[in-house]
Amino acid sequence: MGKRKSSRRRPEWTPGTLLDWSGPGHWDFDRDRPCRYCGNPTRLRDGDRKPAHKTCAETALDEQAREAEAAYFRKDSADDDRRT
Ligand SMILES: [Zn+2]
Repeated sequence: MGKRKSSRRRPEWTPGTLLDWSGPGHWDFDRDRPCRYCGNPTRLRDGDRKPAHKTCAETALDEQAREAEAAYFRKDSADDDRRT
């Protein structure tokens, strides 16, 4: 894992605590399949029933949130030029 910048004020979370995958729909009793993120075998399934480690999915969610946030701020500054 790379270092995270701490300059942004974001709520901290601990890997393994962001998602609740305790339901039976997140567990494949039959076989391991490669995680969609890291490729290592897992019996866990994400919300789309795709194989994924919970920590991998949480990391992906975190990255998506950061990208969405970055896109939001880019859009915001672009709109400054042509404000009505
Ligand atoms: Zn994984």
